[in-house]
Amino acid sequence: FTGAELEAIRAQFPILQREVQGHPLVYLDSAATAQKPQRVIDAESSFYATANAAVHRGAHTLAGEATELYEDARLTIARFLHVDENEVVFTSHATEALNLIAYALGNASLGMGGAAAAPYALKPGDEIVTTELEHHANLIPWQELAARTGATLRHIPVRDNGALDVEVARSVIGERTRVLALSHVSNVTGQVSPLAQLVPLARAVGALVVLDSCQAAPHVPLHPRELDVDLAVFSGHKLYGPTGIGVLYGRAEVLDALPPFLYGGSMITTVTMEKAEYLPSPQRFEPGTPRIAQAIGLAEAVRFVDELGLDRIAASEHAVAQRLRDGLSVIPGVRLLGTDPAAPRVALASVVVDGVHAHDAGQFLDDRGIAARVGHHCAQPLHRRLGATASLRLSAAVHTTAQEVELALDAVAGIRSFFGAGGSTP
Ligand code: PMP
Repeated sequence: FTGAELEAIRAQFPILQREVQGHPLVYLDSAATAQKPQRVIDAESSFYATANAAVHRGAHTLAGEATELYEDARLTIARFLHVDENEVVFTSHATEALNLIAYALGNASLGMGGAAAAPYALKPGDEIVTTELEHHANLIPWQELAARTGATLRHIPVRDNGALDVEVARSVIGERTRVLALSHVSNVTGQVSPLAQLVPLARAVGALVVLDSCQAAPHVPLHPRELDVDLAVFSGHKLYGPTGIGVLYGRAEVLDALPPFLYGGSMITTVTMEKAEYLPSPQRFEPGTPRIAQAIGLAEAVRFVDELGLDRIAASEHAVAQRLRDGLSVIPGVRLLGTDPAAPRVALASVVVDGVHAHDAGQFLDDRGIAARVGHHCAQPLHRRLGATASLRLSAAVHTTAQEVELALDAVAGIRSFFGAGGSTP
């Protein structure tokens, strides 16, 4: 983006006007949650102000308008993903979407869902494969599913440079693999997973592929069909949308065959005192009053992203990502997590600052108005593998400027000397 374009983008984010600790806010925590453009905030509040009603029921005008807005939101998301509308299920967040998949597979394993669901049932001896770099949201549901079904949980290990080990993956994924669940982009290293090499391994053995696209969605065009995955998830709030909304994409054939996860109203065809028949996707997975305002807000966020163009966003963020990594990698006593020279990356980087606890480093940055994330970022196994208990993560967004990156690099360069841990820059 040109300087003027970037200014115009920044002007759309009201929070960027505020100060923190007497400094202009430098928000470098977009991987945790993105800030919201005014139009997203307005879309949500204007729904409540003008069209609020429960969807899919009631004959009145507002109910009709609310239903149309909600289903339009689904259509917007479907276009964004290049998939059909009935393949888009709204959840509360990516975590719920991943749990939904695991629970539906667990229910299939209990014999629920009848013959249609039977091909998805897991039994002792079957294997679920995940990876060593997963966010806990794409690990724990699989641990629990394995425990409930007697299936074995295996994982693709990570190399010292944070890359998934494709060679080892060839022996981990085999005839017994029924599910491969993996991240699209690591939320710690920012490295894009080698999907073109890994997905075909799972395909070749007929395993279901589940992709966690949370950290990809704001940065790279999402195309689950081209990636040949069965199911993919992301969270609205990381894509400039509201909190409380997540998206599950699933191939229609898979979604319509899987038994539901939650049960209640708005998902059935007929109900007797003994049993119920369920609607196809997406209603089958959206019982209860859905997240209407949040879905409408997310659709507005997708329009915001679409109007700028994810390709242009990616190109503009590329320079930021490069400078961030180059700058961090030359600071003495600062170690970058994820150094695979071959991996494409998004604009996020995590570092361990020698001799300084990540929380102190985060506080030091906050004192300068810089918002960064510290901790294990819900990826304890990856931190353990890379020899760290916690790290400091800087993650950029469409509104991040080169000057902000320089401010952050200067601040990181000053951490060690401030805490008496050595370092050359005052
Ligand atoms: N997966 C990844 C890779 C993430 O970065 C996150 C959010 N930190 C999640 C899953 C979970 O997203 P949410 O908390 O919105 O459910």
